[in-house]
Amino acid sequence: MSTPPPTDDTVAGIRARVAAWRAAGERVGFVPTMGALHAGHLALVRTARRSAERVVVSVFVNPTQFAPTEDFSAYPRDLAGDLSKLASVEADAVFAPTTTEMYPQGFATQVSVGGPAIGLETDFRPHFFAGVATVVAKLLIAVGPDVAVFGEKDFQQFLVVRRLVADLRLPVEVVGHPIEREADGLALSSRNAYLSPEERATAPEIYAALTEAALAIRSGTDAQAALSAARGRLAASGFVVDYVELRNAEDLSPAETPPHGPLRLLAAARLGRTRLIDNIPL
Ligand code: AMP
Repeated sequence: MSTPPPTDDTVAGIRARVAAWRAAGERVGFVPTMGALHAGHLALVRTARRSAERVVVSVFVNPTQFAPTEDFSAYPRDLAGDLSKLASVEADAVFAPTTTEMYPQGFATQVSVGGPAIGLETDFRPHFFAGVATVVAKLLIAVGPDVAVFGEKDFQQFLVVRRLVADLRLPVEVVGHPIEREADGLALSSRNAYLSPEERATAPEIYAALTEAALAIRSGTDAQAALSAARGRLAASGFVVDYVELRNAEDLSPAETPPHGPLRLLAAARLGRTRLIDNIPL
């Protein structure tokens, strides 16, 4: 068994570690996570490694992106398990700050992003992207990587981060990684652990419904009709549907009729107490 990567819990600590690598001429990759790591996260680490000699992974369950009604306290946490998974992919360091290190007494700053943050998730989680943009900006400034890898699982988040980095001219390359799925199509997610066996059996419907709608739209079916059919299919399987939408893949503006250019089908739906999101290119 390989040894777990060293962990820093302060900004000063991770900054000093990265500065030493930089001074030795090494490129640094970064993968921000909320922990409870699965094969999707580890795939991001491998992608980061392809363009950097060193890879830092952050593990921080960010309180500011959860509404008071959401699952912040129940969110799965397993730093010891995460460290041994990160050892298996040879991550070079873990940044696992405390909440007070990230949000000290008197913290009063928020980064807010428009553009791709408007609609979809924001309609259901109004404070989500301000929380994400603020913590991602803080993490990128703390670690100072050359390249940061984000999963397309959170496609809207990926575009929000790309916009944030461009608008603030943060000196980092943002790279997307495709969605890693279970054999039955369910997108890997730390929240899948919440699913009961029955819900787990139903959960792949979300990918199946998106795939069916994408095929229908590609073969000329009216997009709105295909989206309604997908919503109906999910509702019939027991989901409470937040949205199933077709958007431009570059900026998430609504797709034109008839749809053209790079497009993305995005969905969010609740199964019992678990909220699942997924998306596919079209
Ligand atoms: P999280 O820990 O859920 O905040 O996710 C950390 C990073 O891993 C984000 O960039 C996610 O988009 C990415 N990620 C999570 N699940 C997957 C997956 N199934 N495939 C690819 N990337 C993922």
